[in-house]
Amino acid sequence: MSFKVPRGTQDILPGQTEKWQQVEGVIRDLCQVYRYKEIRTPMFEATELFQRGVGDTTDIVQKEMYTFEDRGGRSLTLRPEGTASAVRAYVEHKMFGQADQPVKLYYTGPMFRYERQQAGRYRQFVQFGVEAIGSANPAIDAEVIALAMDVYGSVGLKDLKLVINSLGDKETRNAHRTALINHFEPSISEFCSDCQNRLAKNPLRILDCKKDHEHPLMATAPALTDYLTDDSAAYFSQVKKYLDALGISYVVDPNLVRGLDYYNHTAFEIMSTASGFGSITTLCGGGRYNGLVEDIGGPDMPGIGFAMSIERLLLALEAEGIELDVQEGLDMYVVTMGEEAKLKAVELVSSFRTKGISADMDYLDRKMKAQMKAADRASAKFVIVLGETELAEGAVNVKVMETGNQEKIAFHDLVNFVLEHK
Ligand code: ATP
Ligand code: MG
Repeated sequence: MSFKVPRGTQDILPGQTEKWQQVEGVIRDLCQVYRYKEIRTPMFEATELFQRGVGDTTDIVQKEMYTFEDRGGRSLTLRPEGTASAVRAYVEHKMFGQADQPVKLYYTGPMFRYERQQAGRYRQFVQFGVEAIGSANPAIDAEVIALAMDVYGSVGLKDLKLVINSLGDKETRNAHRTALINHFEPSISEFCSDCQNRLAKNPLRILDCKKDHEHPLMATAPALTDYLTDDSAAYFSQVKKYLDALGISYVVDPNLVRGLDYYNHTAFEIMSTASGFGSITTLCGGGRYNGLVEDIGGPDMPGIGFAMSIERLLLALEAEGIELDVQEGLDMYVVTMGEEAKLKAVELVSSFRTKGISADMDYLDRKMKAQMKAADRASAKFVIVLGETELAEGAVNVKVMETGNQEKIAFHDLVNFVLEHK
């Protein structure tokens, strides 16, 4: 009997986890300077939350959810995305009433979608996302976009394209909807069955179809931007003005519609333009969702957010040939000869670690030469060799591996020596 990870999931092993930690560190630090606070919500929620929050006509709700019944007969779903949960928590904990407004939240954690596995598409993947709830000011749209761009910039990515669009308000959407129906209806039989269903329910989503995107009627479809109301157009031009002020370049794509149902006004995606990045190039998607808070049972509060997966960020790094500068070197390796020495080594290693110096020793009773090799493999900065002489003298030669220099240091001065020289 042999076991493998379930399809669409992966083990992240030492060697890789350091990269993850580094990216997560960048995210934490940036959220701190942008003043987004972390929220942690359960990995599963009532199924209905996603049906409402993500939308019945989306791919996620129609075919990607991991839904199960628990022993109490409740229908639960492993979260496929983070916004619905964040908004549920915002409403449940009445965060709309707190003094600090708008409420700026971020999360990182695994999401689950039953998808066809391919590069950059997993059944369990980790999303980092933010939600800014309580402001309908275009400046915060720009802030949210800037934060996403900053994450990619901070890890060194350069080949990026920011695509934005406005989905307008209700009035915009209704006028555009009618135009779309008129455009597609006569030839709808040439489209996939999903699109045929979308025509009546949510024709906008036809534009986001992955099967029919080459159909000639797609390119000539009425653009949302032509139906923007004056208010929506003004809002969109403000967002662009703020992005210009921030020095963030973008392209406007009138056909950009996000996969989730709840978006309005600003929608955006960040793509990798690195050659060799495979067919899926979207790294991050986000947008404004005025109306969602109310749909989930809260007050009428506007919101905007984005989500990106760490997996695709790491793939983009690979595509650009960027190696994260991962610090995994060891400060001190203690080589031992004999039982007595091992006893002392245990004590010394512990005293190093207490002071934040990474330290290691042999636990396999290896010969001195093999221990030196282990120190080398771990890229130890310093090595000491403890034997009878050193124990008798209460001092040891500290070898600085980079230079080969040695210096004799008393046991009780070792920690200070390393702290000064590391
Ligand atoms: P796609 O069009 O690629 O299916 P989506 O519209 O379903 O994306 P969102 O729900 O907006 O994606 O999720 C935001 C981000 O999460 C994506 O831009 C991508 O970085 C990441 N993402 C989505 N699904 C997956 C997945 N199955 N595996 C890895 N990352 C994913
Ligand atoms: Mg998807």
